[in-house]
Amino acid sequence: MQEMINQAAQWLAGAHKAIVFSGAGVSTESGIPDFRSAGGLWTRYNPAEYGTLGAFLRDPQKVWGMLAEMEQVMNVKPNAGHLALARLERAGYVAGIVTQNIDGLHQAAGNTNVVEYHGSNRTYSCLRCRVRFPRAEVQQMPVPPRCPRLVEGSRCDTILKPDVVFFDEAIPMQAVIGADHLVRGADFVLVVGTSCEVYPAAEIPQQVRRQGGRVVEVNMELARGLNSHLSLQGKFSQIVPAIAERVLALRA
Ligand SMILES: [Zn+2]
Repeated sequence: MQEMINQAAQWLAGAHKAIVFSGAGVSTESGIPDFRSAGGLWTRYNPAEYGTLGAFLRDPQKVWGMLAEMEQVMNVKPNAGHLALARLERAGYVAGIVTQNIDGLHQAAGNTNVVEYHGSNRTYSCLRCRVRFPRAEVQQMPVPPRCPRLVEGSRCDTILKPDVVFFDEAIPMQAVIGADHLVRGADFVLVVGTSCEVYPAAEIPQQVRRQGGRVVEVNMELARGLNSHLSLQGKFSQIVPAIAERVLALRA
């Protein structure tokens, strides 16, 4: 394992532009359960009934039954892997992160260039007023949270929607452009906590490979079909700090 960590660190330190592509696996190590796994949110709530914009528009109160549960597990902290990625960005080794996660843990750790491919629950929107509210404010509201703005003299009261991308929604244009900007010219991608099965996000490592870049994977269960140059099987919160330490030592 140490040899593989050294190899990954050498490639990362020598890259012209290194990026990170992350998924649910990095958050499970912070205590957020994988919504897709057995007993997870999506095995108990039918995505068609609870996970689509159509469902939300039809019956936002019902969908908030699921969202309230999702909210409860989101009050967690970044782990050592998140913190190591933030150190790497600060030291200039990582250009940015494309994440499939909605929990904002990369930003909480200190990363500044983060593209949230599937949106985020750090903010909530009123679809009527087109106004955004920070999570901290929404958490003070009763469930389901309602828009407090005054519209023509009376409270708007529209039920707020988290700015996460529901299953029937398109990837936000801003995220598509942001990801494209990051991936373009990247010659190294560190894939963490994702089996890369959800398209179009999973296309990102393949694009780096087509550009002649290296693909290094850190996963508890190695991703089939990713075909990485180096696969490190184990914990994000252990392996990524070890890689970061090695990268920063190479500089010294
Ligand atoms: Zn409103």
